[in-house]
Amino acid sequence: MAVQENPATPMPSDPTGPVMAQPSECADRPLPAYSDLTAEQARGKACVACGNKLGVGAVYRGPILGYFGAMLLDADVYACPRPTACR
Ligand SMILES: [Zn+2]
Repeated sequence: MAVQENPATPMPSDPTGPVMAQPSECADRPLPAYSDLTAEQARGKACVACGNKLGVGAVYRGPILGYFGAMLLDADVYACPRPTACR
């Protein structure tokens, strides 16, 4: 009876440097209500947390649902990219 052990799972390591955990990143902020989104935020052009213009590496925060009258709307929103260790 051979007992099979799980092969050691390699830890995902980032060769570029340590991960800097910053609890107040835009990507970790709670999502606002749909009615609080600006037009730019609702279109995914601006950060959903701070309102800054987004470029490459924006973090997808998922759809926010809301009603406009009887119409159900959803907006795909994004947040600022997470900061990287090296600049
Ligand atoms: Zn932001």
